[in-house]
Amino acid sequence: MDKRSTDVLIIGTGLAGLFAAVNIDSSIKVTLLSKTKVRNSNSSLAQGGIACEYNDDKSLHQKHIEDTMRAGAYLNDKNAVEFLVHNAFDAVKTLIELGVKFDMDKNGEYLFTKEGGHSSKRIFHSGGDATGNNVIEDLLAVVKQRKNIHIVDNTMALDLLQKDGKVHGAIVLENEAKHYPIYAKKVIIATGGIGSVYGSTTNDLNATGDGIGMAYRAGCKFQNMEFVQFHPTALYSEFVTSRQRFLITEAVRGEGAYLRNVEKERFMKKYDPERMELAPRDIVSQAIYREMYDTWTDHVYLDTTHMDPKFLEKRFPTVFNYCKKEGYIMGLDLIPVAPAEHFLCGGIKTDLDAKTCSMNLYAIGEVAYTGVHGANRLASNSLLECLVFSKSAAKNINETLNGDLLNQDFVIEELPNYNYNYKPIRKKIGDYMDEHVSIVRNEQGLSLTDKVLKDIEANLLKYPNLTKYYYETLNMVETAHLITESALKREESIGCHLRIK
Ligand SMILES: Cc1cc2nc3c(=O)[nH]c(=O)nc-3n(C[C@H](O)[C@H](O)[C@H](O)COP(=O)(O)OP(=O)(O)OC[C@H]3O[C@@H](n4cnc5c(N)ncnc54)[C@H](O)[C@@H]3O)c2cc1C
Repeated sequence: MDKRSTDVLIIGTGLAGLFAAVNIDSSIKVTLLSKTKVRNSNSSLAQGGIACEYNDDKSLHQKHIEDTMRAGAYLNDKNAVEFLVHNAFDAVKTLIELGVKFDMDKNGEYLFTKEGGHSSKRIFHSGGDATGNNVIEDLLAVVKQRKNIHIVDNTMALDLLQKDGKVHGAIVLENEAKHYPIYAKKVIIATGGIGSVYGSTTNDLNATGDGIGMAYRAGCKFQNMEFVQFHPTALYSEFVTSRQRFLITEAVRGEGAYLRNVEKERFMKKYDPERMELAPRDIVSQAIYREMYDTWTDHVYLDTTHMDPKFLEKRFPTVFNYCKKEGYIMGLDLIPVAPAEHFLCGGIKTDLDAKTCSMNLYAIGEVAYTGVHGANRLASNSLLECLVFSKSAAKNINETLNGDLLNQDFVIEELPNYNYNYKPIRKKIGDYMDEHVSIVRNEQGLSLTDKVLKDIEANLLKYPNLTKYYYETLNMVETAHLITESALKREESIGCHLRIK
C-alpha cells in the first residue's frame, strides 16, 4: 500500500480512531497513524467502563441525559447529549458484534456498575477493571483483518496540509527521522487528551495536546477549553518522577469505598451529604483539595478496609495488583490518593457528524468538543462519546467521500534539525499549569501564566525544529495557552472550573 496517499487519514489509534476506521466502508482506503506504539493511548488505560442504557426505555435514556447535564452544570449542548444517549445502544451493539466482550454474570446477563454522578447502574465493563485494554485488543484484531486499513506506527503527525480552507492531509515524522506528507481526501484528528500539559496526570504521556496544536495552527474553532477534569483518586506517592500517575477507578467508590482525610474523617458529608463519595468528580476533587489545604498535606486516603479483599481482587484485578506492587493491600490498607489531571471536557468544536469548521477535517474522541460534557464530564461518558461520534464521522465519510479529489500540490518546507533539549520548557509549562490553572484558579495567577506561555510560544515559533520534542512542546504550550485564556474569560465558578477571584 502506498504510504503517502490515502482516502482517509486517521491520526490516533485509541478507541476513537480505531472505531472510526472499522466503521468506514471496506472500499475506502484508511491509514491510521500512531505516534508511538499502537497500544499507547488513554483508551488502553481506561478501567471503569462505558456508560450506556442498553435498551429502548425512554425513561432510562432520560435519566442518563439528566445525569450528564447535571454533571456538566447544564452548560452541555442538549442536542449533543440526546444524540449521545439515544445512539449509545447502537454504538455499543456494533462493538459487541465486532467481538468485544463485556463482563456477564453466570446467567449470561451483562453486569453493570455505577460511578460518580450516575443515578443507576449502567456502566459496561470488561475484565473487571481492564475495559479499555480489552476493547482495544479486540478492535485491533478486527483492524488487522481489514484489507483497507493500514496502521503506521511510530509516526507523528506534525501539521495539517491546508489550502483554501480545505485540509488535504498531514505532514508526518516517521521514527523521529523521515519527514514526509501523507495526502488524504479526509483527515480525522483522534489524538486524545492533554495530560502532559500538567505536572501530574493519569494520562498516557503521549497526550501532549498534538491534535489541539495542529487544529489551532490550522485555524479551527475551540470551545470550553477551561474545563479540565481532575480525577480525585490518582495513587499518591512521594517519590514519583514521572508526570504519569496510576488511576484508581471511581468504580471502587461505586462498590462502596470511602474517602478520609489524614485525620481519618469521612469528609464528603461536609460537601455533598447526599451523594457522598459518588458526587461528580469536580465536587470530589475540589473537596479533596480543600481537605489537603486544611490538614496541611498533599493527599487523602481511599478507604476499602470495610470491604472484602477477595472481592476487591476479583472485581479490580488491575488496581489491586498495582496497589500491591506499591505496598498497599486493598481491603486492608488505607490507600493514599490525590487529584491529577484526567480529561479535557472542551476541545476542537465539531458538529454531530464530528466535522470541524475546516473542510475535510473531522475531530473525534477526547480532542473534540461535541458539546456532550458541558462544564464537567460524567464518568464513563468519554468512551461512549468516542464510539458514538466515531460512528457518525464514519457514516458521514461513507456518504460524502466520492466527490472528493486528492490534492498533492504542496511544497513541503525544509526545516532545520537542531539537537535541542526541551525538558526545562516542558517543566516550566507543567509547573505554571499546576500552580495557577489547576483545580483552584484566580485572575492574578491566570494572567501571569498567560504571559509566561505567550513568551514560550513566541520563542518556540522563532526557532522551528524538525523534531518530535519540538512539536510536542509547541503543542503543549499552545494547548496550555488555550486553556489559560478560556479560564481567564470564565469569571464564574462552574463545573470543574473553580475561580476564587
Ligand atoms: C487512566 C484512565 C482511565 C480512564 N477510564 C475511563 C473509563 O473507565 N471510562 C471512560 O469513559 N473514560 C475513561 N477515561 C477517559 C478515556 O479513556 C479517554 O477519554 C478516551 O480513551 C480517549 O480516547 P481517544 O481515542 O480520543 O484518545 P486516546 O485513546 O488517548 O488515543 C490517542 C491516540 O492518538 C495518538 N496520537 C497523539 N498525538 C499524535 C500525533 N501527533 N501523531 C500521531 N498519533 C498521535 C496516540 O499515540 C494515541 O494512539 C480514562 C482515562 C484515563 C487516562
